[in-house]
Amino acid sequence: MTVQKTIQVPVSELTKVRITCKECQVITEIPLDQMTKVFRSGKCPCCERPLTEHEQTLREFALGVRMMIDIKDRVGLEFVLPAPE
Ligand SMILES: [Zn+2]
Repeated sequence: MTVQKTIQVPVSELTKVRITCKECQVITEIPLDQMTKVFRSGKCPCCERPLTEHEQTLREFALGVRMMIDIKDRVGLEFVLPAPE
């Protein structure tokens, strides 16, 4: 039997998302409540290069995160990550 240790991260403890632009290498931390605004353009906040060919995907991702934040008082949501060894 294999036991895998995990870390549970409740959505209520998430505050920021960190993106790294592969073009300019700039790391940007975006407060989750501002994701929809920042991801609306689908561009790197620093060099303005498109982050994806499917900018709608980023907007939908940001809306999904917004929805998770909005329902956190009604449902417990956790991300389950493998614990570092
Ligand atoms: Zn960039």
